[in-house]
Amino acid sequence: MPDTKRPRILAVTNQKGGVGKTTTAINLGAALAELGEKVLIVDLDPQGNASTGLGVSAKDRENTTYELLLEDAPLADVIRPTGVDRLHIAPATTDLSSTDVELGTQENRVFLLKDALSSDAAMVFDYILIDCPPSLSLLTVNALVACDAVLVPLQAEFFALEGLSQLMLTVRDVRETANPGLRIEGVVLTMYDQRNNLSQQVEADARATLGELVLSTRIPRNVRLSEAPSYAMPALAYDPQSKGSQAYMDLASEILSRHAKRKEPA
Ligand code: ADP
Ligand code: MG
Repeated sequence: MPDTKRPRILAVTNQKGGVGKTTTAINLGAALAELGEKVLIVDLDPQGNASTGLGVSAKDRENTTYELLLEDAPLADVIRPTGVDRLHIAPATTDLSSTDVELGTQENRVFLLKDALSSDAAMVFDYILIDCPPSLSLLTVNALVACDAVLVPLQAEFFALEGLSQLMLTVRDVRETANPGLRIEGVVLTMYDQRNNLSQQVEADARATLGELVLSTRIPRNVRLSEAPSYAMPALAYDPQSKGSQAYMDLASEILSRHAKRKEPA
Protein backbone atom coordinates (compact mmCIF):
# COMPACT_ATOMS: atom_id res chain seq x y z
CA MET A 1 0.00 0.00 0.00
CA PRO A 2 1.47 3.37 -0.93
CA ASP A 3 2.31 5.61 1.98
CA THR A 4 1.46 9.19 1.06
CA LYS A 5 2.60 10.76 4.31
CA ARG A 6 5.50 13.11 3.85
CA PRO A 7 6.98 15.78 6.10
CA ARG A 8 6.26 19.48 5.74
CA ILE A 9 9.57 21.17 5.05
CA LEU A 10 10.15 24.77 6.12
CA ALA A 11 13.29 26.74 5.32
CA VAL A 12 14.08 29.25 8.06
CA THR A 13 15.82 31.89 6.04
CA ASN A 14 16.92 35.51 5.86
CA GLN A 15 20.25 36.46 4.33
CA LYS A 16 20.95 38.79 7.24
CA GLY A 17 22.89 37.32 10.14
CA GLY A 18 21.78 37.65 13.74
CA VAL A 19 18.05 38.03 13.07
CA GLY A 20 16.94 34.91 14.94
CA LYS A 21 17.01 32.12 12.31
CA THR A 22 18.81 29.59 14.48
CA THR A 23 16.89 30.56 17.61
CA THR A 24 13.67 30.09 15.63
CA ALA A 25 14.72 26.75 14.13
CA ILE A 26 15.67 25.33 17.55
CA ASN A 27 12.74 26.68 19.55
CA LEU A 28 10.01 26.28 16.95
CA GLY A 29 11.32 22.74 16.48
CA ALA A 30 11.14 22.09 20.23
CA ALA A 31 7.66 23.61 20.42
CA LEU A 32 6.34 21.50 17.53
CA ALA A 33 7.85 18.43 19.24
CA GLU A 34 6.15 19.42 22.50
CA LEU A 35 2.86 19.49 20.58
CA GLY A 36 3.44 15.91 19.43
CA GLU A 37 5.04 16.44 16.02
CA LYS A 38 8.14 14.50 15.06
CA VAL A 39 10.70 17.10 14.00
CA LEU A 40 14.05 17.14 12.21
CA ILE A 41 16.22 20.25 12.19
CA VAL A 42 18.64 20.33 9.27
CA ASP A 43 21.63 22.52 10.09
CA LEU A 44 22.70 24.10 6.82
CA ASP A 45 24.90 26.81 8.32
CA PRO A 46 28.67 26.09 8.35
CA GLN A 47 28.76 27.85 11.74
CA GLY A 48 26.79 24.90 13.14
CA ASN A 49 25.05 26.99 15.79
CA ALA A 50 21.88 24.89 15.78
CA SER A 51 23.98 21.74 16.25
CA THR A 52 25.92 23.22 19.17
CA GLY A 53 22.75 24.73 20.66
CA LEU A 54 21.16 21.28 20.69
CA GLY A 55 24.16 19.62 22.29
CA VAL A 56 25.86 17.84 19.38
CA SER A 57 29.53 17.97 20.33
CA ALA A 58 32.15 18.69 17.69
CA LYS A 59 33.44 15.11 18.14
CA ASP A 60 30.03 13.70 17.29
CA ARG A 61 29.97 15.27 13.84
CA GLU A 62 31.51 12.60 11.65
CA ASN A 63 28.46 12.43 9.44
CA THR A 64 27.02 15.85 8.84
CA THR A 65 25.06 17.77 6.24
CA TYR A 66 28.34 18.12 4.33
CA GLU A 67 28.58 14.34 3.89
CA LEU A 68 24.84 14.30 3.14
CA LEU A 69 25.13 16.79 0.29
CA LEU A 70 28.58 16.14 -1.10
CA GLU A 71 29.41 12.54 -0.32
CA ASP A 72 26.01 10.87 -0.67
CA ALA A 73 25.93 9.83 2.99
CA PRO A 74 22.48 8.35 3.78
CA LEU A 75 20.25 10.71 5.79
CA ALA A 76 19.76 7.98 8.39
CA ASP A 77 23.51 8.10 9.16
CA VAL A 78 23.45 11.85 9.68
CA ILE A 79 20.42 12.22 11.97
CA ARG A 80 21.06 12.45 15.74
CA PRO A 81 18.57 12.50 18.61
CA THR A 82 18.63 15.55 20.90
CA GLY A 83 17.81 15.78 24.60
CA VAL A 84 14.22 16.61 23.59
CA ASP A 85 11.71 13.86 22.75
CA ARG A 86 10.69 13.78 19.08
CA LEU A 87 13.34 16.39 18.15
CA HIS A 88 16.25 15.29 15.94
CA ILE A 89 19.05 17.10 14.16
CA ALA A 90 21.22 16.69 11.10
CA PRO A 91 24.31 18.60 12.30
CA ALA A 92 26.74 20.81 10.39
CA THR A 93 30.43 21.67 10.57
CA THR A 94 32.61 24.31 8.94
CA ASP A 95 33.24 21.78 6.13
CA LEU A 96 30.02 23.10 4.62
CA SER A 97 31.60 26.47 3.89
CA SER A 98 33.33 25.11 0.81
CA THR A 99 30.16 23.79 -0.87
CA ASP A 100 29.68 26.75 -3.20
CA VAL A 101 33.12 26.15 -4.67
CA GLU A 102 32.94 22.36 -4.66
CA LEU A 103 29.54 22.27 -6.34
CA GLY A 104 30.29 25.02 -8.81
CA THR A 105 29.98 22.90 -11.92
CA GLN A 106 27.68 20.05 -10.93
CA GLU A 107 24.53 20.09 -13.00
CA ASN A 108 22.23 18.89 -10.20
CA ARG A 109 23.80 21.16 -7.61
CA VAL A 110 20.59 22.87 -6.47
CA PHE A 111 18.73 19.56 -5.99
CA LEU A 112 21.13 17.88 -3.57
CA LEU A 113 19.18 18.63 -0.39
CA LYS A 114 15.84 17.90 -2.04
CA ASP A 115 17.13 14.47 -3.07
CA ALA A 116 18.54 13.80 0.40
CA LEU A 117 15.21 14.72 2.04
CA SER A 118 13.25 12.49 -0.32
CA SER A 119 14.69 9.34 1.23
CA ASP A 120 12.70 6.98 3.47
CA ALA A 121 14.54 8.22 6.56
CA ALA A 122 12.89 11.64 6.08
CA MET A 123 9.36 10.25 5.83
CA VAL A 124 9.09 9.43 9.54
CA PHE A 125 9.09 13.17 10.35
CA ASP A 126 6.09 15.48 10.46
CA TYR A 127 8.18 18.63 10.15
CA ILE A 128 11.65 19.35 8.80
CA LEU A 129 13.07 22.79 9.62
CA ILE A 130 16.12 23.91 7.66
CA ASP A 131 18.35 26.40 9.46
CA CYS A 132 19.89 28.43 6.62
CA PRO A 133 23.19 30.33 6.55
CA PRO A 134 23.15 34.15 6.47
CA SER A 135 23.50 34.46 2.70
CA LEU A 136 21.71 33.68 -0.54
CA SER A 137 24.37 31.09 -1.36
CA LEU A 138 23.99 27.74 -3.07
CA LEU A 139 23.20 26.24 0.34
CA THR A 140 20.24 28.56 0.77
CA VAL A 141 19.10 27.85 -2.79
CA ASN A 142 19.26 24.12 -1.95
CA ALA A 143 16.99 24.83 1.01
CA LEU A 144 14.55 26.82 -1.15
CA VAL A 145 14.42 24.01 -3.70
CA ALA A 146 13.92 21.33 -1.03
CA CYS A 147 11.23 23.07 1.03
CA ASP A 148 7.48 23.55 0.81
CA ALA A 149 7.60 27.02 2.30
CA VAL A 150 9.86 29.72 3.66
CA LEU A 151 9.68 31.07 7.20
CA VAL A 152 11.42 34.43 7.47
CA PRO A 153 12.49 35.76 10.88
CA LEU A 154 12.48 39.55 10.76
CA GLN A 155 14.31 41.40 13.49
CA ALA A 156 12.41 44.46 14.59
CA GLU A 157 15.15 46.99 13.79
CA PHE A 158 15.93 49.74 11.31
CA PHE A 159 16.47 48.52 7.70
CA ALA A 160 14.80 45.20 8.57
CA LEU A 161 12.59 45.32 5.49
CA GLU A 162 15.32 46.35 3.05
CA GLY A 163 16.89 42.90 2.80
CA LEU A 164 13.55 41.22 2.27
CA SER A 165 13.11 42.30 -1.34
CA GLN A 166 16.30 40.50 -2.35
CA LEU A 167 15.09 37.36 -0.59
CA MET A 168 11.68 37.61 -2.25
CA LEU A 169 13.35 37.90 -5.68
CA THR A 170 15.36 34.77 -4.98
CA VAL A 171 12.19 32.97 -3.87
CA ARG A 172 10.53 34.04 -7.13
CA ASP A 173 13.48 32.78 -9.20
CA VAL A 174 13.40 29.40 -7.49
CA ARG A 175 9.62 29.21 -7.92
CA GLU A 176 9.98 29.89 -11.65
CA THR A 177 12.64 27.24 -12.08
CA ALA A 178 13.29 24.41 -9.65
CA ASN A 179 10.37 24.55 -7.18
CA PRO A 180 7.05 25.80 -8.62
CA GLY A 181 5.13 24.96 -5.43
CA LEU A 182 7.35 27.13 -3.19
CA ARG A 183 5.28 29.25 -0.79
CA ILE A 184 6.04 31.85 1.84
CA GLU A 185 4.86 30.42 5.15
CA GLY A 186 5.22 33.78 6.80
CA VAL A 187 7.37 36.46 8.30
CA VAL A 188 7.84 36.28 12.06
CA LEU A 189 8.90 39.34 14.03
CA THR A 190 11.79 38.49 16.36
CA MET A 191 13.47 40.25 19.29
CA TYR A 192 10.34 42.35 19.54
CA ASP A 193 10.19 44.97 22.29
CA GLN A 194 6.68 46.22 22.90
CA ARG A 195 7.90 49.41 24.60
CA ASN A 196 10.22 50.34 21.77
CA ASN A 197 8.86 52.70 19.11
CA LEU A 198 11.15 51.20 16.51
CA SER A 199 9.72 47.71 17.08
CA GLN A 200 6.22 49.09 16.65
CA GLN A 201 7.23 51.01 13.53
CA VAL A 202 8.86 47.96 11.91
CA GLU A 203 5.77 45.92 12.70
CA ALA A 204 3.45 48.54 11.21
CA ASP A 205 5.59 48.79 8.05
CA ALA A 206 5.81 45.02 7.71
CA ARG A 207 2.06 44.56 8.10
CA ALA A 208 1.36 47.40 5.64
CA THR A 209 3.73 45.95 3.02
CA LEU A 210 3.30 42.22 3.53
CA GLY A 211 -0.21 41.97 4.99
CA GLU A 212 -1.28 38.43 5.87
CA LEU A 213 2.24 37.15 5.37
CA VAL A 214 3.21 38.62 8.74
CA LEU A 215 2.33 36.04 11.40
CA SER A 216 0.34 37.18 14.44
CA THR A 217 2.85 35.72 16.89
CA ARG A 218 5.69 38.06 17.81
CA ILE A 219 8.81 36.70 19.48
CA PRO A 220 9.84 39.06 22.29
CA ARG A 221 13.41 39.84 23.18
CA ASN A 222 13.93 37.42 26.04
CA VAL A 223 17.18 36.58 27.78
CA ARG A 224 16.21 32.91 28.27
CA LEU A 225 16.28 32.45 24.49
CA SER A 226 19.86 33.68 24.31
CA GLU A 227 20.99 31.73 27.39
CA ALA A 228 19.52 28.35 26.49
CA PRO A 229 22.09 27.41 23.76
CA SER A 230 24.93 27.59 26.27
CA TYR A 231 23.12 24.84 28.19
CA ALA A 232 22.82 22.91 24.90
CA MET A 233 19.04 22.88 25.00
CA PRO A 234 16.02 24.75 23.63
CA ALA A 235 14.50 27.42 25.89
CA LEU A 236 11.48 25.15 26.27
CA ALA A 237 13.65 22.62 28.11
CA TYR A 238 15.66 25.23 30.02
CA ASP A 239 12.82 27.48 31.17
CA PRO A 240 9.44 26.40 29.80
CA GLN A 241 7.56 29.23 31.51
CA SER A 242 9.72 32.00 30.04
CA LYS A 243 8.13 34.50 27.68
CA GLY A 244 10.43 33.29 24.91
CA SER A 245 9.38 29.66 25.31
CA GLN A 246 5.72 30.61 25.42
CA ALA A 247 6.06 32.74 22.27
CA TYR A 248 7.55 29.81 20.35
CA MET A 249 4.70 27.58 21.58
CA ASP A 250 2.30 30.21 20.17
CA LEU A 251 4.22 30.27 16.90
CA ALA A 252 4.04 26.48 16.63
CA SER A 253 0.27 26.53 17.25
CA GLU A 254 -0.20 29.29 14.69
CA ILE A 255 1.75 27.39 12.04
CA LEU A 256 -0.15 24.16 12.74
CA SER A 257 -3.52 25.89 12.54
CA ARG A 258 -2.64 27.77 9.33
CA HIS A 259 -1.62 24.44 7.85
CA ALA A 260 -4.86 22.77 8.96
CA LYS A 261 -6.89 25.61 7.40
CA ARG A 262 -5.09 25.33 4.07
CA LYS A 263 -5.93 21.64 3.92
CA GLU A 264 -9.66 22.33 4.22
CA PRO A 265 -11.57 22.16 0.95
CA ALA A 266 -12.18 25.55 -0.62
P1 ADP B 1 20.78 33.98 13.08
O1 ADP B 1 20.68 32.50 13.09
O2 ADP B 1 19.79 34.64 12.17
O3 ADP B 1 22.17 34.47 12.80
P2 ADP B 1 20.45 33.79 15.95
O4 ADP B 1 19.22 32.99 16.16
O5 ADP B 1 21.75 33.10 16.12
O6 ADP B 1 20.39 34.52 14.54
O7 ADP B 1 20.35 35.06 16.92
C1 ADP B 1 21.39 36.01 17.01
C2 ADP B 1 21.67 36.33 18.48
O8 ADP B 1 20.51 36.91 19.07
C3 ADP B 1 22.00 35.10 19.29
O9 ADP B 1 22.93 35.44 20.27
C4 ADP B 1 20.66 34.74 19.95
O10 ADP B 1 20.83 34.07 21.19
C5 ADP B 1 20.04 36.10 20.14
N1 ADP B 1 18.57 36.07 20.05
C6 ADP B 1 17.82 35.59 19.02
N2 ADP B 1 16.51 35.76 19.26
C7 ADP B 1 16.42 36.35 20.48
C8 ADP B 1 15.32 36.81 21.29
N3 ADP B 1 14.05 36.68 20.87
N4 ADP B 1 15.61 37.37 22.48
C9 ADP B 1 16.89 37.53 22.90
N5 ADP B 1 17.95 37.13 22.20
C10 ADP B 1 17.74 36.54 20.99
MG1 MG C 1 22.12 31.06 12.55
